[in-house]
Amino acid sequence: MRDPRYDILFTPVKIGPVTAKNRFFQVPHCNGMGHAMPLAHAAMREIKAEGGWAVVSTEECEIHPSSDLTPYVEARLWDDRDIPALALMCDKVHAHGALAALELSHNGPTASNLYSREVLLGPSHQVSKYGYPSQARAMTLHDIREYRRWHREAALRGKRAGMDIIYVYAAHDLSLPMHFLQRRRNQRSDEYGGSLENRVRLLREVLQDTRDAVGDTCAVALRFATEELLGPGGVELAEAQDIVGMLAELPDLWDVNLAAWYNDSVPSRFATEGAQEPFIDFVKKTTTKPVVGVGRFTSPDTMVSQIRRGVIDLIGAARPSIADPYLPRKIEEGRVDDIRECIGCNICVSGDMTISPIRCTQNPSMGEEWRKGWHPERIRPAPQPTRVLVVGGGPAGLEAARALGQRGHDVSLAESRKELGGRVTREARLPGLAEWARVRDWRVGQIGKLNNVSVYLDSPLTAQDVIDFGAEHVVLATGCHWRRDGFGRSNGLGIPGLADHARVFTLDDLMDGRLPEGRVTVFDDDGFYYASVAAELLRARGCEVAYVTPEDSIAPWSVNTLDYRHIRKRMAKLGIEAIVSHNIAGFDGSTLTLEHEWDEQRTERPCDAIVTITSRLPDDALYQQLLLRLGDWGGAGIRSVRCIGDAEAPGLIAHAIYAGHRYARELQEPVTGEVAFKRHFHTADPDDLRRETPA
Ligand code: ADP
Ligand code: SF4
Repeated sequence: MRDPRYDILFTPVKIGPVTAKNRFFQVPHCNGMGHAMPLAHAAMREIKAEGGWAVVSTEECEIHPSSDLTPYVEARLWDDRDIPALALMCDKVHAHGALAALELSHNGPTASNLYSREVLLGPSHQVSKYGYPSQARAMTLHDIREYRRWHREAALRGKRAGMDIIYVYAAHDLSLPMHFLQRRRNQRSDEYGGSLENRVRLLREVLQDTRDAVGDTCAVALRFATEELLGPGGVELAEAQDIVGMLAELPDLWDVNLAAWYNDSVPSRFATEGAQEPFIDFVKKTTTKPVVGVGRFTSPDTMVSQIRRGVIDLIGAARPSIADPYLPRKIEEGRVDDIRECIGCNICVSGDMTISPIRCTQNPSMGEEWRKGWHPERIRPAPQPTRVLVVGGGPAGLEAARALGQRGHDVSLAESRKELGGRVTREARLPGLAEWARVRDWRVGQIGKLNNVSVYLDSPLTAQDVIDFGAEHVVLATGCHWRRDGFGRSNGLGIPGLADHARVFTLDDLMDGRLPEGRVTVFDDDGFYYASVAAELLRARGCEVAYVTPEDSIAPWSVNTLDYRHIRKRMAKLGIEAIVSHNIAGFDGSTLTLEHEWDEQRTERPCDAIVTITSRLPDDALYQQLLLRLGDWGGAGIRSVRCIGDAEAPGLIAHAIYAGHRYARELQEPVTGEVAFKRHFHTADPDDLRRETPA
């Protein structure tokens, strides 16, 4: 069944005392569930093991209250009471023949300690990383010995939990062994500071400690950043090459990548598959130990090429394993076309960033494995297969049609345009967003394999068409459009004069090829990616572009998807002027009046056109018309009409996919009460509860 070209991906790899059954390695990734939702976390990791990943890792795991990452929710091993949560994950992962890996971390000055209220620790006195108004104190030699003890004890706890691989973490600018390497964080004058040998000392000691503590049965992995792109203040490639040379054979496995996280999990808009190769390919030439690297790998040919060319031994993946937990199995079973490829949108990252369970644009079951019992591949067959009409072939309609078809319903999908994909097709033509078309392509490919789903293009349906169609259930996924009038967060009454102005454009105009010329202002009151993409498009077409926002920074929400710094750099490089803290006060076709948000000063500037990126309106006219004709439903055999996705309330593509999937899952299923999912409940320490409960 498997294409012999891919055989090499399925050869076992020895990692110290353990053996990975193939080369697919789910590297550590955050998920917003961590220690707070251990059942949900374990179920999510189990599905990866079931999907064929030979190694399934945790996210970073706090080893001590002085490395408390609150409000972020990661793994935790502060004492023995934290062992059962991770043992649960190990059991689930082992049940499918995979190895479990634990990424131990003490985050030093990059922790928060907001919950534990411990004083932050660092190589030297320094400010904390995330803008918390506090500082870390310089560690004494006693502190260093204590830190080594905490790390050793956490490794032992990991082993007791059942972990097969224990990580020492020196990456992402997030852990003490890395902080000791960095000149900007380490100004010590003792044996732990100054020369490279001294700055590497702690990392070497912790690797040795871990090996001594658990190395008899557990492999010791080192996650190491080879470049921070910060110049001499950070880890630089040349120095990283020396470090790898110094420690070459000490770990059982090298897991190498770029720091910080925004340089590692780069959105597809700013980096292609395999982009880290030039920064990590030296490692395998320096060590005999296996090397794992990441690169948002979804193509088995690229994976094979990386291995054959001696870049890496194991295919590391976080995002590709989130978008498709079954990726290895699909390659193994010769079903490469079925791989649900990651689109590099980083909505998964936004879960961790917003302290909520992980979600994924491509894989609506991600994070729902335990609480909703959703499986990425399996779905309950329909109790009574019936006729369902889906109107609209954007992400919501495509996913609804696909999943309804998978359940066995007789599905018709009507799309008014001559092509499928809705907003995804349109947005994927904008600069940098081409990979987003994978949202459409995977679903169209899957629907093509179902003979119970019919697709009708060029078919704009009216309410009468829907009534005449004779489906038992109707789901409207008719999308939305961008407003022209400036209505949005900062202008609840719109902006006078914009709505009917011939020189005011929307993102829909741009996507339809109606482009402004000359001096253009892109007005961003949305805060995510759209405005910077529009600015980039117009700049490439030769416009003189100014980006204006009432916010105090550009595209503030893009911090949550790691886009922010890349957007800023690209705008600066392209010569797009950025004006923050300003609202639009007026526009007469040639002059734009701006008003400063804080001092209300007005300024005028020449401007030929405005693009408003402020908010959207649902295209729900069909739904409203059908509601007015409720009396005709019964005669037409219609039992339900639902409106989903952007037609219900405009949102992310991820929201639309989720809405389509949820509709298909819930059709004909009993309503389970007000709360449609299982929850974790927090209790006090059981001993305390017993003591404080009256007899
Ligand atoms: P979502 O993100 O919610 O899936 P999109 O805007 O991407 O929404 O997709 C909506 C799709 O529905 C578009 O492709 C649009 O052409 C189509 N559509 C809108 N109204 C109708 C209609 N009355 N009949 C058929 N298709 C429609
Ligand atoms: Fe990939 Fe986007 Fe899913 Fe993350 S959310 S795994 S980037 S498709």
